[in-house]
Amino acid sequence: MKEVLTNPTAGYYMNRDVFGQTGDFITSPEISQMFGELIAVWLVNEWTKCGRPTPFQIAELGPGRGTLMADILRVFSKFKIAGSDFSVSLVEVSPYLAQVQEKQLSPRQAQEATKLPQGSQHYKQSISFYGSQVRWYNHIADLPRTFTLFLAHEFFDALPIHKLVKVDQGWREVLIDLNREDLTLRFVISRDRTPACLYRLDNESREELEVSPQSLIITQAMAARIHQDGGIGLVIDYGHEGDKTDTFRGFKNHKLHDPLVDPGTADLTVDVDFSALKWAATHPRTFEDWKANLTFGTVDQKDFLTRVGINLRLEQLLASCRDEDVALNLKSAHKMLTDPMEMGSKFKFLALYPSVMEKILERYPPPGFV
Ligand code: SAH
Repeated sequence: MKEVLTNPTAGYYMNRDVFGQTGDFITSPEISQMFGELIAVWLVNEWTKCGRPTPFQIAELGPGRGTLMADILRVFSKFKIAGSDFSVSLVEVSPYLAQVQEKQLSPRQAQEATKLPQGSQHYKQSISFYGSQVRWYNHIADLPRTFTLFLAHEFFDALPIHKLVKVDQGWREVLIDLNREDLTLRFVISRDRTPACLYRLDNESREELEVSPQSLIITQAMAARIHQDGGIGLVIDYGHEGDKTDTFRGFKNHKLHDPLVDPGTADLTVDVDFSALKWAATHPRTFEDWKANLTFGTVDQKDFLTRVGINLRLEQLLASCRDEDVALNLKSAHKMLTDPMEMGSKFKFLALYPSVMEKILERYPPPGFV
């Protein structure tokens, strides 16, 4: 999965725009500006709860076309949060998508790595339309140490998984093998235990499951930063609470696609195991003396968006709209984002907070989650 999606030369994400009508799938920020605007208002609210610390950074993992971040920056400027108060940090492996993000967010040509000062953790930098620094990173571990608003929308579903099955002898891993006769790919069960079988499986009642060590490591890194430097995390994706078994699939031209056919030409994805992310966010990898972070959710997208005011925002936009087609688009976007039969209940929201905020959150719980 890692190789097919992010191989430097042939990886699915590395050299093309995969989103929208002409691509393979469409995501919520691409459907309507309302999505990013409501998330931005939520972030401003929660940052205010923390005492409006500056300077801070907004760090987005896997920003795609940069549309969500563009909507967020516009709202931050409406709230008069100065561009100099914060920086934007984008964790992106795809050089092609980093270029698309740069065009979306900043009027100037970004400085490529060659021109950056020696020892820079980022590989590219620019200044946004609103005056904040924008920097691109390969890994979450490279981000600057400061108060951080973390965002991950449709990021974790792209991270590689191991698939495990229970057989008579115990847990085994499902591997991918070559059919000698016709050189096609096929699934096989490992003869013996593999390192992935060391995953915590003691109280597991499922007969098969998917585990994503990379997702756990990234979540632990985010949780450690939130604890040490202050911050909040918002993770949005399709997923489950540790009860699904077999969700690995491909998408091509908006249709399901066999992941073993023509690898590299289709998106590969899995449902995110939010119970595993919550476990990682509250179980530090090192034995540092830190209390567990707090997690809220998951809640369905429909509930989150309705509670933070998507109906009001739709009314406002319709009231100032003179074009009938635009009005129709707004209404259909609202339906697509919130209808349980569309994205409303498939997508889930999870929030992370440092444990020092426990008392404040008891009094003022995170909007959208209650
Ligand atoms: N958040 C965007 C894009 C989702 S697609 C949206 O909702 O529209 C997944 C994004 O994650 C892409 O930008 C892809 O290039 C990036 N990505 C995938 N694997 C990654 C990895 N291991 N590290 C950093 N970015 C990754």
